[in-house]
Amino acid sequence: MKLLKISKKDFSDVLNRLKDSYRLYGPVRKGNIVDFAPIEDVSDIDLSFQNSRLSPKSLFLPQSERMFEYGLDPAGDEAHILKEASKDYSPKAVIGIRPCDAKALELVDANFDTPEFRDPWWVKARETTTLVGLGCTSPCSTCFCTTVGGGPFDDAGLDVLLTEINDAFLARVLTEKGEKLIKAANTFEPAEEELVQKATAIEQEAAGKIVSKVDTSRLAEIDTLALHGADFWEDVQFACINCGICTYLCPTCWCFDIQDETHGRVGCRMRNWDSCMFPLFTLHASGHNPRGQKIQRVRQRFMHKLKYYVDTYKMGVACVGCGRCVQHCPVNIDIRQVCRLMNEYEGKVPKVS
Ligand code: SF4
Ligand code: SF4
Repeated sequence: MKLLKISKKDFSDVLNRLKDSYRLYGPVRKGNIVDFAPIEDVSDIDLSFQNSRLSPKSLFLPQSERMFEYGLDPAGDEAHILKEASKDYSPKAVIGIRPCDAKALELVDANFDTPEFRDPWWVKARETTTLVGLGCTSPCSTCFCTTVGGGPFDDAGLDVLLTEINDAFLARVLTEKGEKLIKAANTFEPAEEELVQKATAIEQEAAGKIVSKVDTSRLAEIDTLALHGADFWEDVQFACINCGICTYLCPTCWCFDIQDETHGRVGCRMRNWDSCMFPLFTLHASGHNPRGQKIQRVRQRFMHKLKYYVDTYKMGVACVGCGRCVQHCPVNIDIRQVCRLMNEYEGKVPKVS
């Protein structure tokens, strides 16, 4: 791993040089909200944020994505023939992604990029994107990354990790993609030992600031059916209004729905984010809905993140502790409390009478 440095005053020049080789994305402030957006003018990048409202997941799984296009003119040669919609897979670099959001992409890979099944659009977007992470020096009070396998300077899933030190950044170059980006930037210099030591102190201090914790140690061993039948779901679901905010903000939620949209004699097949919190999500064409009740949907969300994912992928929980769902749930349903209920559960499989 290479350890390099760049002064903050030169960082805009670096970004401008990178624009020659990459489509740049970074955190942009609009009012009180920071979100990842394409960067036309590098002065739009705001690296002073704590965390973005939405994660950069949408750069890999867009909220609405064209999959196929087709014609509907019966006289046309190509009526009803599906053609893959064209997309731009030229190299892309995401500047300033937080370590938790980069780790989340790896957790989602477990679903979209497997030996049996590869989602072509997810995989292409992942392969052509270089992730330049920015460690968190001021984590939010709702962050709990350190107890779900991450940390404010965790380098999982990143190509380069930046640590902000006064008027400079220390850059850890972690992968070949990272090396290529550093070469294109053409300005980084070797970091001296003193700077590396300062960075290590900053990183340790940041980890110490994360006081919110969850215990996931028993989740794998607890019987799935026992957990599914636990009494506490009644209380957990009580206040939920099924708004879907928790799932739309979550960097590890991957559910989508596919719909055809037609305009005159052309059509396109879209996939759009969907949410297990919505009743329509599981509605069958027959009218039957296996998760027609709110308690079933709320339980599904937590069981998926904290039990089914754990058992299926053996990669820990499907939560990186970003705290977005904790901060923005309008009725204060808190995954940390639900995780405690699940992890401490001692009940048995309920008897069916
Ligand atoms: S954000 Fe809160 S109220 Fe909305 S669906 Fe999620 S748990 Fe329910
Ligand atoms: S479940 Fe909540 S805290 Fe965990 S990754 Fe998703 S939004 Fe973040």
